[in-house]
Amino acid sequence: MKIGIVGAAGRMGRMLIAAVDAADGAVLAGGTEAAGHPDMGKDLGELAGLDTAGVVLSSDPKALFAAADAIIDFTVPTATAAHAALAGETGTVLVVGTTGMDDAQQGAVTAAADKAAIIQAANFSVGVNVLLGLVEKAAGILPDAYDIEVLEMHHHHKVDAPSGTALALGQAAAAGRGANLDDVACKARDGIVGARPRGEIGFATLRGGDVVGDHTVMYAGPGERVEITHKASSREVFANGAVRAAVWGCSQKPGLYSMKDVLGF
Ligand code: NAD
Repeated sequence: MKIGIVGAAGRMGRMLIAAVDAADGAVLAGGTEAAGHPDMGKDLGELAGLDTAGVVLSSDPKALFAAADAIIDFTVPTATAAHAALAGETGTVLVVGTTGMDDAQQGAVTAAADKAAIIQAANFSVGVNVLLGLVEKAAGILPDAYDIEVLEMHHHHKVDAPSGTALALGQAAAAGRGANLDDVACKARDGIVGARPRGEIGFATLRGGDVVGDHTVMYAGPGERVEITHKASSREVFANGAVRAAVWGCSQKPGLYSMKDVLGF
């Protein structure tokens, strides 16, 4: 199976090169970056600190989509929307890890799923997907006197907040309570904001250092507090999950899938 990586010189891109290299039955089809990237033309294996792979970094996503069975995209929202359109044109499987997309960019991904299998997840780690199930279940069991807060911390390069994973955890908690996250979310607090309304789902965002990704969901009730936590210590977990999703996607019909589908939850 031929797998291409867009954004191949990024933090996740380099991890993904190594994950494809290590995966049985997967071959690196190529990798792209936006035109003008300083690593353009470099060997992808060398970019990831491996042996020479014999394929170089290019700025031609069209050619990569034509050559690959599946593409993995951990880039930026504008690029992901354009890549989704290419997946729709070519029918190539697309794995989307990019977070922070607006409604129009998400609409481009959803539209392309009519023509191609697209697997999208805010977090490709198996552990976080288990966490999503636990969070929904706990929110359904604990009464609404238990205030739900989602706390996350990431490295200082991260540009979107709250993280896509934090929002997915908020959605899982809201679903457990039969609520819609948009109706109950409080994404930041500053100044005299008044007492906390019952049923609100609050978010707190921390940024600093090289933290790969920490998430905690708290249920703060009368006399006790439940906390469910996940800590990622290596980006490898996301890269391995994304490669697993790409392989799985190659035997699926067009449609929009999640990591839960890949894992069979
Ligand atoms: P990064 O900035 O290191 O990498 C992004 C790369 O995309 C950069 O190298 C950039 O040059 C490249 N890029 C930009 N425009 C491009 C284009 N038009 N064509 C090709 N490449 C282009 O960031 P990162 O830490 O690797 O994260 C990337 C995204 O993945 C973020 O949205 C992040 O939140 C998300 N992420 C998701 C998961 C998950 O499991 N879903 C895990 C980690 C990171």
